[in-house]
Amino acid sequence: MRLAPMAAIAVLTFCAVSCGKRGREDGAAPTPRAGFSWPAMGTVAEFEAAGDPAMAARMRNVVADAFTEVEEELSLFLTNSVVSRLNHGETVEVPENGHAATVIGFALETAEVSGGAFDPTVGPLMRIWGLRGGGGALPPLNVISNTLASVGWWRVRLVPAGQGRVRISARGAEIDLGGIAKGYAVDLAVNRLAEAGRTDFLVNLGGNIRVHGAPATGRADWNIAVRDPSGRRPPSPLPRHLRSGEAVATSGSYERFVEINGKRFSHIIDPRIGTPVDNDLASVSVIAPSAMMADAYSTTLFVLGGKAGAAFLAARPGCTAAFIKR
Ligand code: ADP
Ligand code: MG
Repeated sequence: MRLAPMAAIAVLTFCAVSCGKRGREDGAAPTPRAGFSWPAMGTVAEFEAAGDPAMAARMRNVVADAFTEVEEELSLFLTNSVVSRLNHGETVEVPENGHAATVIGFALETAEVSGGAFDPTVGPLMRIWGLRGGGGALPPLNVISNTLASVGWWRVRLVPAGQGRVRISARGAEIDLGGIAKGYAVDLAVNRLAEAGRTDFLVNLGGNIRVHGAPATGRADWNIAVRDPSGRRPPSPLPRHLRSGEAVATSGSYERFVEINGKRFSHIIDPRIGTPVDNDLASVSVIAPSAMMADAYSTTLFVLGGKAGAAFLAARPGCTAAFIKR
Protein backbone atom coordinates (compact mmCIF):
# COMPACT_ATOMS: atom_id res chain seq x y z
CA MET A 1 0.00 0.00 0.00
CA ARG A 2 1.28 3.42 -0.83
CA LEU A 3 -0.25 6.67 0.17
CA ALA A 4 1.67 9.78 -0.68
CA PRO A 5 2.05 11.85 2.48
CA MET A 6 1.16 15.20 0.99
CA ALA A 7 -1.92 16.14 -0.97
CA ALA A 8 -1.60 17.34 -4.50
CA ILE A 9 0.04 20.60 -5.37
CA ALA A 10 -1.31 20.10 -8.80
CA VAL A 11 -1.10 23.64 -9.93
CA LEU A 12 1.89 25.74 -10.83
CA THR A 13 1.26 29.35 -10.12
CA PHE A 14 1.45 32.19 -12.53
CA CYS A 15 4.46 34.31 -13.28
CA ALA A 16 5.09 33.00 -16.81
CA VAL A 17 3.38 36.11 -18.06
CA SER A 18 2.56 38.04 -14.94
CA CYS A 19 5.91 38.64 -13.33
CA GLY A 20 7.21 41.25 -15.51
CA LYS A 21 7.43 40.50 -19.21
CA ARG A 22 4.62 42.87 -20.03
CA GLY A 23 5.67 45.23 -17.25
CA ARG A 24 9.16 45.60 -18.61
CA GLU A 25 7.92 45.96 -22.18
CA ASP A 26 5.75 48.78 -20.90
CA GLY A 27 8.79 50.33 -19.24
CA ALA A 28 7.54 49.62 -15.69
CA ALA A 29 9.89 48.17 -13.06
CA PRO A 30 9.21 44.53 -12.09
CA THR A 31 6.94 44.34 -9.05
CA PRO A 32 8.74 42.99 -5.94
CA ARG A 33 7.14 39.79 -4.66
CA ALA A 34 7.46 37.75 -1.49
CA GLY A 35 6.63 34.06 -1.33
CA PHE A 36 6.09 31.71 1.62
CA SER A 37 5.48 27.99 1.90
CA TRP A 38 4.64 25.90 4.99
CA PRO A 39 2.81 22.69 5.96
CA ALA A 40 -0.89 23.16 6.79
CA MET A 41 -4.00 20.94 6.91
CA GLY A 42 -2.06 17.86 5.80
CA THR A 43 -0.71 19.54 2.70
CA VAL A 44 1.46 22.48 1.62
CA ALA A 45 0.33 26.08 1.90
CA GLU A 46 1.73 28.85 -0.28
CA PHE A 47 1.31 32.58 -0.10
CA GLU A 48 2.59 35.19 -2.53
CA ALA A 49 2.15 38.93 -2.41
CA ALA A 50 3.36 41.87 -4.44
CA GLY A 51 4.82 44.87 -2.65
CA ASP A 52 6.50 45.38 0.73
CA PRO A 53 8.02 42.06 1.97
CA ALA A 54 7.48 42.95 5.67
CA MET A 55 3.78 43.53 5.00
CA ALA A 56 3.69 40.27 3.01
CA ALA A 57 5.06 38.41 6.05
CA ARG A 58 2.29 39.85 8.24
CA MET A 59 -0.28 38.87 5.61
CA ARG A 60 1.12 35.34 5.56
CA ASN A 61 0.48 35.11 9.32
CA VAL A 62 -3.18 36.03 8.80
CA VAL A 63 -3.42 33.22 6.23
CA ALA A 64 -1.72 30.69 8.53
CA ASP A 65 -4.05 31.62 11.43
CA ALA A 66 -7.11 31.17 9.22
CA PHE A 67 -5.93 27.69 8.18
CA THR A 68 -5.31 26.68 11.81
CA GLU A 69 -8.75 27.94 12.83
CA VAL A 70 -10.49 25.91 10.10
CA GLU A 71 -8.44 22.82 10.88
CA GLU A 72 -9.34 23.00 14.58
CA GLU A 73 -13.04 23.03 13.74
CA LEU A 74 -13.24 20.74 10.71
CA SER A 75 -10.42 18.23 11.04
CA LEU A 76 -11.28 14.55 10.91
CA PHE A 77 -8.27 13.78 13.09
CA LEU A 78 -8.38 16.32 15.95
CA THR A 79 -10.54 14.79 18.69
CA ASN A 80 -12.20 18.06 19.77
CA SER A 81 -13.17 19.29 16.31
CA VAL A 82 -16.85 19.73 15.47
CA VAL A 83 -16.43 17.00 12.83
CA SER A 84 -15.00 14.51 15.36
CA ARG A 85 -17.78 15.26 17.82
CA LEU A 86 -20.40 14.66 15.10
CA ASN A 87 -18.64 11.44 14.14
CA HIS A 88 -18.90 10.30 17.75
CA GLY A 89 -22.67 10.65 17.60
CA GLU A 90 -23.02 14.05 19.27
CA THR A 91 -25.49 16.66 18.02
CA VAL A 92 -23.48 19.87 17.87
CA GLU A 93 -24.86 23.39 18.01
CA VAL A 94 -22.79 25.98 16.13
CA PRO A 95 -23.20 29.56 14.79
CA GLU A 96 -25.20 29.52 11.56
CA ASN A 97 -22.56 31.48 9.64
CA GLY A 98 -19.60 29.74 11.30
CA HIS A 99 -17.10 27.42 9.63
CA ALA A 100 -18.87 24.09 10.29
CA ALA A 101 -22.36 25.25 9.28
CA THR A 102 -21.10 26.96 6.13
CA VAL A 103 -18.95 24.06 4.92
CA ILE A 104 -21.36 21.26 5.85
CA GLY A 105 -24.23 23.27 4.36
CA PHE A 106 -22.44 23.69 1.03
CA ALA A 107 -21.25 20.07 1.05
CA LEU A 108 -24.86 18.88 1.43
CA GLU A 109 -26.05 21.25 -1.28
CA THR A 110 -23.34 19.95 -3.65
CA ALA A 111 -24.25 16.36 -2.76
CA GLU A 112 -27.86 16.99 -3.66
CA VAL A 113 -27.26 18.77 -6.97
CA SER A 114 -24.60 16.26 -8.04
CA GLY A 115 -26.90 13.27 -7.45
CA GLY A 116 -24.53 12.04 -4.73
CA ALA A 117 -21.34 12.13 -6.84
CA PHE A 118 -20.04 14.45 -4.13
CA ASP A 119 -20.85 13.08 -0.70
CA PRO A 120 -19.31 14.25 2.60
CA THR A 121 -20.14 10.89 4.22
CA VAL A 122 -17.64 8.82 2.18
CA GLY A 123 -15.40 8.28 5.24
CA PRO A 124 -16.18 4.57 5.85
CA LEU A 125 -15.50 3.83 2.17
CA MET A 126 -12.15 5.61 2.41
CA ARG A 127 -11.26 3.28 5.27
CA ILE A 128 -12.19 -0.05 3.66
CA TRP A 129 -10.13 0.87 0.61
CA GLY A 130 -7.08 1.62 2.78
CA LEU A 131 -7.22 5.32 1.96
CA ARG A 132 -6.99 6.25 5.63
CA GLY A 133 -3.99 4.02 6.41
CA GLY A 134 -3.88 0.23 6.66
CA GLY A 135 -5.37 -1.35 3.53
CA GLY A 136 -3.37 -3.25 0.96
CA ALA A 137 -6.13 -5.66 -0.07
CA LEU A 138 -9.23 -5.36 -2.22
CA PRO A 139 -12.33 -5.18 0.00
CA PRO A 140 -14.76 -8.07 -0.72
CA LEU A 141 -18.04 -7.09 -2.43
CA ASN A 142 -20.13 -7.76 0.69
CA VAL A 143 -17.90 -5.41 2.70
CA ILE A 144 -18.43 -2.70 0.07
CA SER A 145 -22.21 -3.15 0.12
CA ASN A 146 -22.38 -3.25 3.93
CA THR A 147 -20.29 -0.09 4.09
CA LEU A 148 -22.50 1.65 1.51
CA ALA A 149 -25.38 1.15 3.95
CA SER A 150 -23.78 3.69 6.30
CA VAL A 151 -22.95 6.23 3.58
CA GLY A 152 -25.42 8.88 2.46
CA TRP A 153 -25.39 12.68 2.70
CA TRP A 154 -29.14 12.68 3.51
CA ARG A 155 -28.32 11.29 6.99
CA VAL A 156 -26.73 14.61 7.91
CA ARG A 157 -29.18 17.13 9.39
CA LEU A 158 -28.61 20.82 9.75
CA VAL A 159 -31.57 22.57 11.41
CA PRO A 160 -32.04 26.12 12.73
CA ALA A 161 -31.77 26.31 16.53
CA GLY A 162 -32.70 30.01 16.92
CA GLN A 163 -30.54 33.04 17.78
CA GLY A 164 -28.31 32.59 14.74
CA ARG A 165 -27.39 29.01 15.56
CA VAL A 166 -27.89 25.63 13.86
CA ARG A 167 -27.97 22.11 15.19
CA ILE A 168 -26.03 19.47 13.22
CA SER A 169 -26.34 15.70 13.57
CA ALA A 170 -25.06 12.89 11.39
CA ARG A 171 -27.35 9.98 12.46
CA GLY A 172 -25.02 7.00 12.09
CA ALA A 173 -23.03 8.45 9.20
CA GLU A 174 -19.56 9.93 9.33
CA ILE A 175 -18.59 13.33 8.02
CA ASP A 176 -15.40 13.79 5.95
CA LEU A 177 -14.84 17.29 4.62
CA GLY A 178 -11.55 16.46 2.84
CA GLY A 179 -13.05 17.37 -0.54
CA ILE A 180 -14.12 20.90 0.43
CA ALA A 181 -12.53 22.22 3.67
CA LYS A 182 -9.25 23.36 2.14
CA GLY A 183 -11.11 25.51 -0.37
CA TYR A 184 -13.14 27.06 2.43
CA ALA A 185 -9.95 27.77 4.42
CA VAL A 186 -8.53 29.61 1.39
CA ASP A 187 -11.70 31.74 1.14
CA LEU A 188 -11.50 32.60 4.84
CA ALA A 189 -7.87 33.72 4.49
CA VAL A 190 -8.53 35.75 1.33
CA ASN A 191 -11.62 37.42 2.80
CA ARG A 192 -9.80 38.39 5.99
CA LEU A 193 -6.96 39.99 4.05
CA ALA A 194 -9.35 41.73 1.65
CA GLU A 195 -11.44 43.09 4.55
CA ALA A 196 -8.23 44.49 6.05
CA GLY A 197 -7.64 46.35 2.77
CA ARG A 198 -4.83 44.11 1.50
CA THR A 199 -4.53 43.36 -2.20
CA ASP A 200 -2.35 41.81 -4.94
CA PHE A 201 -1.81 38.35 -3.46
CA LEU A 202 -2.37 34.65 -4.08
CA VAL A 203 -3.22 31.92 -1.55
CA ASN A 204 -2.67 28.23 -2.39
CA LEU A 205 -3.54 25.34 -0.09
CA GLY A 206 -2.71 22.01 -1.71
CA GLY A 207 -3.82 23.06 -5.18
CA ASN A 208 -6.76 25.19 -3.98
CA ILE A 209 -5.87 28.66 -5.20
CA ARG A 210 -7.55 32.04 -4.94
CA VAL A 211 -6.22 35.39 -6.10
CA HIS A 212 -7.01 38.94 -5.05
CA GLY A 213 -5.97 42.12 -6.84
CA ALA A 214 -3.35 42.00 -9.57
CA PRO A 215 -0.26 39.81 -10.00
CA ALA A 216 2.07 42.61 -11.09
CA THR A 217 2.28 46.12 -12.46
CA GLY A 218 0.48 46.34 -15.77
CA ARG A 219 -1.38 43.01 -15.44
CA ALA A 220 -4.96 42.63 -14.29
CA ASP A 221 -5.31 38.86 -14.45
CA TRP A 222 -3.41 35.82 -13.30
CA ASN A 223 -1.90 33.21 -15.57
CA ILE A 224 -1.93 29.81 -13.86
CA ALA A 225 -0.84 26.49 -15.29
CA VAL A 226 -1.68 22.93 -14.23
CA ARG A 227 1.16 20.46 -13.98
CA ASP A 228 0.92 17.52 -16.34
CA PRO A 229 0.15 14.50 -14.15
CA SER A 230 2.37 12.20 -16.22
CA GLY A 231 5.26 14.66 -16.16
CA ARG A 232 5.72 13.99 -19.89
CA ARG A 233 4.14 17.19 -21.14
CA PRO A 234 4.76 20.78 -20.08
CA PRO A 235 2.29 22.42 -17.66
CA SER A 236 -0.94 23.26 -19.45
CA PRO A 237 -2.43 26.72 -19.02
CA LEU A 238 -5.97 26.97 -17.68
CA PRO A 239 -8.67 27.75 -20.27
CA ARG A 240 -8.57 31.35 -19.11
CA HIS A 241 -6.68 33.65 -16.74
CA LEU A 242 -8.08 34.29 -13.24
CA ARG A 243 -9.54 37.68 -12.42
CA SER A 244 -9.31 39.22 -8.96
CA GLY A 245 -11.40 37.20 -6.49
CA GLU A 246 -11.54 34.03 -8.60
CA ALA A 247 -10.36 30.60 -7.52
CA VAL A 248 -9.18 27.36 -9.11
CA ALA A 249 -8.92 23.89 -7.61
CA THR A 250 -7.49 20.69 -9.04
CA SER A 251 -8.49 17.13 -8.12
CA GLY A 252 -6.52 14.21 -9.43
CA SER A 253 -5.65 10.61 -8.75
CA TYR A 254 -1.93 10.83 -9.29
CA GLU A 255 -0.55 12.19 -6.04
CA ARG A 256 -2.81 10.60 -3.46
CA PHE A 257 -3.72 6.99 -4.07
CA VAL A 258 -3.47 3.52 -2.63
CA GLU A 259 -1.72 0.69 -4.48
CA ILE A 260 -3.32 -2.78 -4.24
CA ASN A 261 -1.89 -5.72 -6.20
CA GLY A 262 0.11 -3.30 -8.34
CA LYS A 263 -2.92 -1.19 -9.34
CA ARG A 264 -3.36 2.40 -8.18
CA PHE A 265 -6.69 3.42 -6.66
CA SER A 266 -7.64 7.08 -6.42
CA HIS A 267 -8.35 8.79 -3.08
CA ILE A 268 -11.59 10.07 -4.58
CA ILE A 269 -14.46 7.61 -4.15
CA ASP A 270 -17.55 7.24 -6.29
CA PRO A 271 -20.07 7.12 -3.41
CA ARG A 272 -22.80 5.83 -5.71
CA ILE A 273 -21.01 2.51 -6.15
CA GLY A 274 -18.52 2.47 -3.27
CA THR A 275 -15.31 2.19 -5.27
CA PRO A 276 -12.44 4.58 -6.01
CA VAL A 277 -12.97 6.56 -9.20
CA ASP A 278 -11.48 4.78 -12.19
CA ASN A 279 -12.15 6.75 -15.35
CA ASP A 280 -10.04 8.23 -18.15
CA LEU A 281 -9.19 11.39 -16.19
CA ALA A 282 -5.83 12.22 -14.65
CA SER A 283 -7.05 15.52 -13.22
CA VAL A 284 -9.82 18.07 -13.29
CA SER A 285 -9.39 21.77 -12.58
CA VAL A 286 -12.35 24.01 -11.86
CA ILE A 287 -12.31 27.81 -11.97
CA ALA A 288 -15.07 29.26 -9.76
CA PRO A 289 -16.06 32.46 -7.93
CA SER A 290 -14.93 30.98 -4.59
CA ALA A 291 -12.31 28.44 -3.52
CA MET A 292 -14.86 26.36 -1.58
CA MET A 293 -16.94 26.02 -4.74
CA ALA A 294 -13.88 25.22 -6.87
CA ASP A 295 -12.77 22.57 -4.34
CA ALA A 296 -16.17 20.86 -4.05
CA TYR A 297 -16.78 20.99 -7.80
CA SER A 298 -13.35 19.67 -8.80
CA THR A 299 -13.93 16.60 -6.61
CA THR A 300 -17.46 16.30 -8.03
CA LEU A 301 -16.28 16.49 -11.64
CA PHE A 302 -13.59 13.91 -11.03
CA VAL A 303 -16.36 11.51 -9.97
CA LEU A 304 -18.77 12.49 -12.76
CA GLY A 305 -16.14 12.25 -15.51
CA GLY A 306 -15.73 14.52 -18.54
CA LYS A 307 -19.15 14.44 -20.18
CA ALA A 308 -21.46 14.52 -17.14
CA GLY A 309 -18.99 16.83 -15.41
CA ALA A 310 -19.08 19.39 -18.22
CA ALA A 311 -22.90 19.29 -18.19
CA PHE A 312 -22.96 19.79 -14.40
CA LEU A 313 -20.68 22.81 -14.63
CA ALA A 314 -22.51 24.36 -17.57
CA ALA A 315 -25.40 25.02 -15.17
CA ARG A 316 -23.13 26.89 -12.72
CA PRO A 317 -22.44 30.55 -13.59
CA GLY A 318 -18.83 31.72 -13.36
CA CYS A 319 -17.43 28.17 -13.40
CA THR A 320 -15.11 26.70 -16.06
CA ALA A 321 -13.50 23.26 -16.12
CA ALA A 322 -10.29 21.89 -17.61
CA PHE A 323 -9.85 18.12 -17.91
CA ILE A 324 -6.52 16.34 -18.35
CA LYS A 325 -6.84 12.77 -19.63
CA ARG A 326 -4.62 9.97 -18.38
P1 ADP B 1 -7.28 16.76 -2.28
O1 ADP B 1 -7.73 16.47 -0.89
O2 ADP B 1 -6.18 15.89 -2.75
O3 ADP B 1 -7.05 18.20 -2.54
P2 ADP B 1 -10.00 16.63 -3.28
O4 ADP B 1 -10.36 18.02 -3.00
O5 ADP B 1 -10.50 16.10 -4.56
O6 ADP B 1 -8.45 16.35 -3.25
O7 ADP B 1 -10.60 15.78 -2.08
C1 ADP B 1 -10.35 14.44 -1.87
C2 ADP B 1 -10.80 14.11 -0.47
O8 ADP B 1 -12.21 14.29 -0.38
C3 ADP B 1 -10.56 12.69 -0.06
O9 ADP B 1 -9.31 12.57 0.59
C4 ADP B 1 -11.72 12.42 0.90
O10 ADP B 1 -11.43 12.99 2.17
C5 ADP B 1 -12.83 13.22 0.30
N1 ADP B 1 -13.62 12.52 -0.73
C6 ADP B 1 -13.30 11.43 -1.46
N2 ADP B 1 -14.28 11.13 -2.35
C7 ADP B 1 -15.25 12.07 -2.17
C8 ADP B 1 -16.51 12.29 -2.78
N3 ADP B 1 -16.99 11.53 -3.76
N4 ADP B 1 -17.24 13.34 -2.32
C9 ADP B 1 -16.79 14.14 -1.33
N5 ADP B 1 -15.60 13.98 -0.73
C10 ADP B 1 -14.83 12.97 -1.15
MG1 MG C 1 -12.04 19.06 -3.64
